[in-house]
Amino acid sequence: MSESESLQSDFIRTIIEQDLKENKNNGRVVTRFPPEPNGYLHMGHAKSICLNFGVAAEHPNGICYLRFDDTNPSKEEVEYMEAIKADIRWLGFDWKDRLRHASDYFEQLYDYAVQLIKKDKAYVCSLNVDEIRAYRGTLKEPGNNSPFRTRSIEENLDLFARMRAGEFEDGSHVLRAKIDMASPNLNMRDPVLYRIKRIAHHQTGVKWCIYPMYDFTHCLSDSIEGITHSLCTLEYEDHRPLYDWVLDELEVDCHPQQIEFAKLNLSYTIMSKRQLLKLVQQGVVNGWDDPRMPTIAGMRRRGYSPESIRNFCRRIGIGKKEGVVDLSLLEYSVREELNKWVPRVMGVLRPLKVIIDNYPEDRVEELDGPLHPEDDSLGSRKLPFSKVIYIEQNDFREKAPKKFFRLVPGREVRLRYAYYIKCVDVVKDAETDEILEVHCTYDPETRGGSSPDGRKVKGTIHWVSAAHSLNAEIRLYDRLFSEERPEDTGETELSSVLNPNSLEILKDCRVEPYLAKFEPESKFQFERTGYFCVDAKDSTKEKPVFNRTVTLRDSWAKIVKKNIDNKKKAQSKEQGRNKQ
Ligand code: ATP
Ligand code: MG
Repeated sequence: MSESESLQSDFIRTIIEQDLKENKNNGRVVTRFPPEPNGYLHMGHAKSICLNFGVAAEHPNGICYLRFDDTNPSKEEVEYMEAIKADIRWLGFDWKDRLRHASDYFEQLYDYAVQLIKKDKAYVCSLNVDEIRAYRGTLKEPGNNSPFRTRSIEENLDLFARMRAGEFEDGSHVLRAKIDMASPNLNMRDPVLYRIKRIAHHQTGVKWCIYPMYDFTHCLSDSIEGITHSLCTLEYEDHRPLYDWVLDELEVDCHPQQIEFAKLNLSYTIMSKRQLLKLVQQGVVNGWDDPRMPTIAGMRRRGYSPESIRNFCRRIGIGKKEGVVDLSLLEYSVREELNKWVPRVMGVLRPLKVIIDNYPEDRVEELDGPLHPEDDSLGSRKLPFSKVIYIEQNDFREKAPKKFFRLVPGREVRLRYAYYIKCVDVVKDAETDEILEVHCTYDPETRGGSSPDGRKVKGTIHWVSAAHSLNAEIRLYDRLFSEERPEDTGETELSSVLNPNSLEILKDCRVEPYLAKFEPESKFQFERTGYFCVDAKDSTKEKPVFNRTVTLRDSWAKIVKKNIDNKKKAQSKEQGRNKQ
């Protein structure tokens, strides 16, 4: 981790510093990242990972656990666990030997539950789910005591043991905390601690048929691991009284401090595993690692670097107030970081054939092209140049609009690192009027891209040699949703607010031969076009596939600004009219 990455402060770090000053936890800082293995990690989790692992790394006695919160075997999968581990490692964090599962503690948790029963602080309730809900009351109305609340300690111990032994059907009994059915906090109205689920668990097999609930499991797992600061998102604020109640009643040695911070929300995407899973299941994206997904696996496949995600998390900081972060800030962080080190190469997305009439038929030159404008250490590569090249279709116009400084009949333009060329003819399809090829002449004196007579050209365009370039598929990605806040649109089916243009696949693109040697996930900039990476799944040596990570400039922001400007113009026109 670089020095700049550790120079960070926020209200949580301030609390921890203060605790250390007061020697509150014997100078220890112990955190944990507790994912539920019911989906892939997303950008919001990245924020939590950077916080928990980051805080621990900043202190000599700091450690961070990775703990799978695996109390709901019906929704969990080993595939998710493996993906979560891979994502955390890729982000640059290491739990070392501190990998834990809540299920590691099932025996201890059971004993704790028995202790609560013995203290008359928990009871077996035989109401069904609907009845429990009806008895709970509402925010305005207090709840009613369950008729089973007065069961004797002996009867509760007996029933709970038989629940464990598998004597009862799912849903026939639960274990509940005995707290207060009139509490203004609904979480304190005798919350369920255990339920019967007669299904196998990916870690414990068929050993258990009762499983502890999140609120009971989480605080005790924290306590068992000796967590000092249990950092979670704001929606758990209302659960804190229960977190503290369980630990106080059980008189545990270690009572971690729960501190809540604001979740990350990102515009034009969603941060809910449940909704992301739906998109995967409906097939509207190509799996959890689809490069349009806000998942860490998706962003990785798209070409984001771990540094850029960490930088983004540092930039947004940790606060108490929830808001929406603009996706363009994430893209800015990606651009800023990739700009520093990725090689610059040339790729033509929509090729237009250019024939250089006065260039010898069989000649091939090897031109020198530096790989980075500022960083010489990246060196250079050889660019083959020949009579037939490809340029970008939109780098040529028969009639030039104002400020169009690229290739136009009769005008000179610079081919990057090569020569000045001048357009002398255009060949079109007689029927469709489609431009088939463009003929040019080149000036041999301008080798390398400058003229000895000081003659200037206004435009520089990229190109590849037709005979030497590789055929490639290029995938252009845009925002997944067309709405800034997909979840606030009132649509229950989020697939109805997807951006229909979130993926454009270009076949038959041409890229320079230097790219043949690159491995999956390699990153570069296609000059003038954007940042790209070699797709990790579909790319082959014969048929390379590139993903556009991010454009060079924020074209979206420009479009939005233009729309706003147009609206303002229309409004002022309207006002002007009203005045008349
Ligand atoms: P989801 O709603 O996507 O299922 P979750 O909170 O249920 O999220 P968990 O696997 O339980 O997912 O989350 C693990 C940790 O990541 C928790 O500590 C949680 O608070 C944190 N986390 C989840 N979403 C975000 C987010 N958007 N921003 C910051 N932290 C988050
Ligand atoms: Mg959760």
